[in-house]
Amino acid sequence: MEIIRNPAAMTSWANRVTATGAAIGLVPTMGYFHEGHLSLMRAARKGADHVVVSLFVNPIQFGPNEDLAAYPRDFARDCRLAEAEGVDILFAPEAAGMYPEATKTKVVVSGLTSGLCGGSRPGHFDGVTTVVAKLFNVVKPRIAIFGQKDFQQLAVIRQMVRDLNWDIEIVGHPIVREADGLAMSSRNSYLSADQRRTALCLYRAIRHAGERVRQGVVDAELLVAEITEMIHSQGGVEIDYIALVDRDSLEPLGVLRPGTLLAMAVKVGRTRLIDNDLIC
Ligand code: AMP
Repeated sequence: MEIIRNPAAMTSWANRVTATGAAIGLVPTMGYFHEGHLSLMRAARKGADHVVVSLFVNPIQFGPNEDLAAYPRDFARDCRLAEAEGVDILFAPEAAGMYPEATKTKVVVSGLTSGLCGGSRPGHFDGVTTVVAKLFNVVKPRIAIFGQKDFQQLAVIRQMVRDLNWDIEIVGHPIVREADGLAMSSRNSYLSADQRRTALCLYRAIRHAGERVRQGVVDAELLVAEITEMIHSQGGVEIDYIALVDRDSLEPLGVLRPGTLLAMAVKVGRTRLIDNDLIC
């Protein structure tokens, strides 16, 4: 596996590879790999001739009071794990390489970015779409793999790719969970043992929602109230949002119907966790 730090060097490599007709698969990440990241790398390997994993803790997608400085990092371990997955290139640029001082352009997707995580993290998705657009131009992938864990991010990127006519296939990969159901996340490393137990309320909420749908419940307000109550009954949590939305438009639904996504963001202590599931 080769490590490339410079965007221009990354593009030279990509130009050489694509000139032969080979397809590049890109997995954008912020590092501190877990099984979720590794499963995305395997999916890229299946769909492309060469796999590029980008590792970049993108400063412009963090708000001023968020965890940019504390975000977990272990570059040596990430290199070992990516290499073991047969990754060809680990693209790990410096912030100054991605955003030279003269940078004046942002990529903004409207509408889809205003609710859910966009509501509580203003500007977050502008940072995401800007960095992903730059990664697409630098790495020139034919396919790019994103986790459904960040469901809104996936929807926003699909929209951006359609709107900007990029000839890139966007693949959504199912959420990888711990044995007890907690969605894997680099941020889980912030949790104490107690908080780790508390964090299971998200998965319990998903299971509860599935059960209530099987019982015939269609009233979204009722289900949100039940889940809110379930999660609030835990100490040390703060609900950011619990929403039942259409999987494509991400618009809130009053009545559950096929294609309903349960999406949640909950703070356990100071750690903000997200999870989601298609409940019908
Ligand atoms: P991150 O490093 O957290 O920005 O995540 C990089 C990519 O991995 C994103 O496309 C995430 O959606 C995806 N990802 C993160 N956690 C999981 C998970 N538990 N299961 C599947 N994909 C994930």
